[in-house]
Amino acid sequence: MTIDIAKISELDRRSVLHPFTQLKDFATGKLGDPTIVETGKGIRIQDAAGKEFIDGFAGLYCVNVGYGRTEVAEAISRQAYRLAYYHSYAAHTTDELAILSDRLVKMAPGKMSKVFYGMSGSDANETQAKLVWYYNNLRGKPKKKKIISRDRGYHGCSIISGSMTGMSFYHDHMDLPFSQIVHTGVPHHYWGGHPGETEVEFSKRRAAELDELIQREGPETVGAFIGEPVLGTGGITPPPEGYWEAIQAVLRKHDVLLIADEVITGFGRTGSMFGSDRYGIEPDLITVAKGLTSAYFPLSGAIVGEKVYQVMEDAADRVGSFSHGYTYSGHPIGAAAANAVLDIVENEDLPGKADTVGSYFQAQLQAKFAQLPIVGEVRGVGLMGAIEFVADREKKTRFDPGLNVGARVSKAARDRGLIARAMPHGDILGFAPPLVITKAEVDELVSIAESAVRSVM
Ligand code: PLP
Repeated sequence: MTIDIAKISELDRRSVLHPFTQLKDFATGKLGDPTIVETGKGIRIQDAAGKEFIDGFAGLYCVNVGYGRTEVAEAISRQAYRLAYYHSYAAHTTDELAILSDRLVKMAPGKMSKVFYGMSGSDANETQAKLVWYYNNLRGKPKKKKIISRDRGYHGCSIISGSMTGMSFYHDHMDLPFSQIVHTGVPHHYWGGHPGETEVEFSKRRAAELDELIQREGPETVGAFIGEPVLGTGGITPPPEGYWEAIQAVLRKHDVLLIADEVITGFGRTGSMFGSDRYGIEPDLITVAKGLTSAYFPLSGAIVGEKVYQVMEDAADRVGSFSHGYTYSGHPIGAAAANAVLDIVENEDLPGKADTVGSYFQAQLQAKFAQLPIVGEVRGVGLMGAIEFVADREKKTRFDPGLNVGARVSKAARDRGLIARAMPHGDILGFAPPLVITKAEVDELVSIAESAVRSVM
């Protein structure tokens, strides 16, 4: 099919309200025409003009199995022909849904019991908040409602998940954050560590700050803590050494639930099946989305631990039905897509690949970028990585935001056929390629990124 680029651009500009886009610049053409993405294969996408890009960000850290996987497309098509839809209210199910749920409960870290399904990471985190409130109401602790998240955490953009998101520019002019959400310090040693402070000492300080925050708010008012095992949108930042161990000790002390937001880190990205496995996290609730279906179909899950679920079941005679759900909860096509994707994740050992190819990727990033005069830190784990640019390495000073260094590097990469994301916080170039990337493709990606970075130096 040939796409009429001018016509589609015009229709789009007239009618699509694009997320995270400067509306005036788009409307007046300053941002140029929309990129009409037409096809994808492996780690590459192609636009309607025939230009090919290495997708160094797997869409939005989600197309983990790569583009154009016929196994997944066929599973979706088979299910659509067989039964396009049925709901999962009042004990209805499908074979794909039951099989998927059993797999998720068994593969997830911690002692998990059930999976509640949504369509996006945002709505799954919204569900997590309701579960925390429900659980504490049912066990007679109705004041225990506040949820603590971290500065620079990203958890979505609905009312509650957007409030959990700890970057103010996601809140501006939108009347967030919601009052029950409280923020604590970001675990980023490069910017937050005191001179001479080790990572372990810094982690203990962050945990002590959390302890103080809970004491100040009143432990009887704090229901949960939410965190990404590796901070994603807030700058692709792995936790400092000892961080999760110290944080979990504080949460246990105050009877505060831990929600692991595994929307990016789930299903292999860090080199383990879950980020929680990698960092010794034992969550009470787990949020999954993105990699669950590799974005071939919108599907998310709030995986509920035994401790929380048992309270819900025990109270059922008293409180009646669990009254939460969406028309599309447990959509059979989503479940079929997820089962096909998990087959690939397991059969091709994508967590193992993200570990070995990821180690190579991290070593290449370090080798090519860490010593450049405009680079402050190169960091990452598995197949997620970041280069942070600074004006002065010694003094650790940021570039003037007006210089748009991160955005300029990202644009230079794009002009050279590589999509690497200018992260929204600071001058950071982020990478999260599909987990099927090979070492040769890593070399190609890194070499284009190097040329892009050098072009703005
Ligand atoms: N949680 C994390 C860690 C995310 O990275 C994202 C999205 O990037 C979300 C939640 C929200 O997911 P969605 O965009 O599907 O609502």
